[in-house]
Amino acid sequence: VQEAVAHRRSRRAPDRFAAPGIRRGGSRPYDVVIAGAGFAGAIMAERLAEGSGKRVLVVDKRPHVAGNAYDLHDKAGVLIHQYGPHIFHTNSEQVVDYLSRFTAWRPYEHRVLAKVGDKLLPMPINRTTLNGLYSLNLQTDEDAAAFLAAQAEPVEDIRTSRDVVVNAVGRHLYETFFQGYTRKQWGLDPSELDKSVTSRVPTRTSLDDRYFTDTFQAMPRDGFTRMFERILDHPNIDLALGTDFHDLKTGDLAPLTVYTGPIDAFFGHRYGPLPYRSLQFRHETLDQRRFQEVAVVNYPAEEVPHTRITEYKYLTGQVHQQTSITYEYPSAVGDPYYPIPRPENQVLFKKYEALALQRDDVIFLGRLGTYRYYNMDQVVGQALATYRRLAERMAAQAGA
Ligand code: FAD
Repeated sequence: VQEAVAHRRSRRAPDRFAAPGIRRGGSRPYDVVIAGAGFAGAIMAERLAEGSGKRVLVVDKRPHVAGNAYDLHDKAGVLIHQYGPHIFHTNSEQVVDYLSRFTAWRPYEHRVLAKVGDKLLPMPINRTTLNGLYSLNLQTDEDAAAFLAAQAEPVEDIRTSRDVVVNAVGRHLYETFFQGYTRKQWGLDPSELDKSVTSRVPTRTSLDDRYFTDTFQAMPRDGFTRMFERILDHPNIDLALGTDFHDLKTGDLAPLTVYTGPIDAFFGHRYGPLPYRSLQFRHETLDQRRFQEVAVVNYPAEEVPHTRITEYKYLTGQVHQQTSITYEYPSAVGDPYYPIPRPENQVLFKKYEALALQRDDVIFLGRLGTYRYYNMDQVVGQALATYRRLAERMAAQAGA
């Protein structure tokens, strides 16, 4: 760590540890060690450094910042997302205001098509989807609503992801768009998954073909990684990349830890591993300007091994002779990406959470630290709220 941070040390401003402390670092070189340089870790670092004058060490076991939102220019010079497409959208003004200190924005509304046979149909299902799939001519919202009502097969006790969809749109639309996709994505049948998974996907009767309807939809103008570099560029923040938190003697480094890695790993998988779904990515650059009609095309058919293909130039607006795309293959092994939403997994998580609650020297944060599927804006909101509570606690301790 000393080597990794040495180059940044020289830039450090005189010690600003005049602000109220949780507990003073004493002889220890930092006030806080943060595991993870994704949204949760980077924002906590920035707030503690800038808002409270704390000395912060951020470590990430990957060789880069930005967590899963990491983007980079590939060999051809096309800006791609290493861990699959990340589209920023939010209804929170507070989140936009905060991030806007570190980036300008490029307005972008996301659109997704699903490949069904030889047809490309809008997702989420809307009136165009119904007209295209069934060769109909539904003219109004009311026409589409009546059609869907006739398809729907009411389920009395809605508990699973299958129940949600069959209840809303019936078995045929469920099998066409959800069954195969969900089986591939999660390695489980929708009837084995919590209802929250498919509840997130709306069904529309309008012609609105945007994937999200949030009030703010835009991409960081210079990319996510550039935004993270600006967030972490602070004289009180040292950064050690390629460093596993579990290899550190954190007690010697700082009195407080913010941990944004998997909570079960923190406790040595004491109660067994929490299940996560992973992904394998195949990135390709093609000698053509465009590959597909929109940024993302879904492949719901079970016999096609990938779930979706992303073409990045739609997201970034980059002008380039070539284009880069990514195939996604869901996988049981690999990096932990998605906590699997099933009741028994929540029960296991609660056991780890109980251990976490006994540790007032560690704050667990983010998608992996709290074992919950969060979008980027939700993690930003979580980090800002956690910092506010911590700052209040520090102020109260200083006043006591
Ligand atoms: P992460 O970004 O995962 O960061 C955690 C960091 O901790 C990682 O860099 C990891 O290397 C590090 N770490 C873990 N363990 C250790 C350790 N022991 N020592 C050191 N470092 C460690 N959200 C959206 O809003 N829009 C989208 O379009 C979207 N698309 C997504 C697509 C995919 C394929 C995935 C997987 C997620 C997507 N998300 C999207 C969600 C988004 O990625 C998360 O909300 C966000 O990355 C969460 O930030 P985080 O800091 O909690 O976690």
